[in-house]
Amino acid sequence: MIYLDNNATTRMAPEVREAMLPWMDEFYGNPSGGYRFGKKAKQAMDEAREKVAALIGSQPDEVVFTSGGTEAINSAIQSGTRQHPNHKILLASSVEHSAVFEAFGAMESQGFETRWCPVDEQGRLDLEQWNQILEGAQVVVANLIWANNETGVISPVAEAAAACAEHGACFHCDAVQAVGKIPISVGELPVHALSMSAHKFHGPKGVGAVYTHRLSRFTPMFYGGGQEEGRRSGTENVAGIVGMGVAASLASEALDSRKRLADMRDDFENKILDSIEGVEINGGNTERLPNTTNLYFSGVDGEGLLILLDEAEVCCSPGSACSTGSIEPSRIIKSMGHSSTRARSSVRFSFSRYSEAREVDEAVSAVKAAVAKLRVVLPRGVTR
Ligand code: PLP
Repeated sequence: MIYLDNNATTRMAPEVREAMLPWMDEFYGNPSGGYRFGKKAKQAMDEAREKVAALIGSQPDEVVFTSGGTEAINSAIQSGTRQHPNHKILLASSVEHSAVFEAFGAMESQGFETRWCPVDEQGRLDLEQWNQILEGAQVVVANLIWANNETGVISPVAEAAAACAEHGACFHCDAVQAVGKIPISVGELPVHALSMSAHKFHGPKGVGAVYTHRLSRFTPMFYGGGQEEGRRSGTENVAGIVGMGVAASLASEALDSRKRLADMRDDFENKILDSIEGVEINGGNTERLPNTTNLYFSGVDGEGLLILLDEAEVCCSPGSACSTGSIEPSRIIKSMGHSSTRARSSVRFSFSRYSEAREVDEAVSAVKAAVAKLRVVLPRGVTR
């Protein structure tokens, strides 16, 4: 199998699994326990907190563990809205992940109003409009995806965050795809909160964290035992948190070799562009994650391509994994001003540090064969 869907999830690093095992087995104490058996678990979590903080350039006590990226995002947004209860405007880019998109949608039914800031045809945020929206309305929470999960396009986080600071809006960054793939130093940015998820950087699924600036008040999403210094209630997933810590340290070390990843991705893109006609890179003319490519194959049904590649044992994605199964064309590609046809004919390939150079050629051959097959018959709604 050639696994090129690392933006959906990644293989857990063997070192992570090894580190987790004792915490699922012999050291099962509750970290809130007052005895040494429990304190040992608490200490292991604190070490993991230091490792995660080191990966994003924060203080350890600014890291709150959650059940993953979705919880981190929802809790950051909800906490942000409580800072100014009278302000009801939410701001986000038009290319947010469904975790933000749906959270904002749900908040509209509670009296909030959302302003979606557009992106250009490369998926770049329109900073001018971002600033105008902040100037014209009392925005309570602004949200920006650091790196897009479908295209890998990187947002101007520093500029967007600075504008929010100037206008008193709480700024949350969805950095789920960025953490572990590109260097992040949150301490240097006016960011109130930032979300991350372990399974995107070779850690376990079902564990993540939200960075919360030490000077901003973070109110929990749900109430209970007051764990995580009152910022996230519920008995902690100790094994998962230990695994996330090890994954964070490994990711920090691997950041230096991200050029190798970019070279592999570029090699894949160049070979596809050279050998298949009618291919364009979505967001190809701007800064992107080193591991991601989103390709438009004109006259090809993306779902069909996925099925043929699956038969050839190549795993890739029509965009966000969360929207697989729905026949809706990618919201992200459409937000970039492209047609539904182009969105339906676009496929994402995402590499990881475990990807091998030989897989590039095998994947290119499989894509070539599948595209040739699909171009013989065009399904309804797909035009050349
Ligand atoms: N945000 C982005 C940009 C993502 O890519 C994802 C996962 O695909 C999430 C949030 C949700 O993270 P999790 O799967 O940990 O809930």
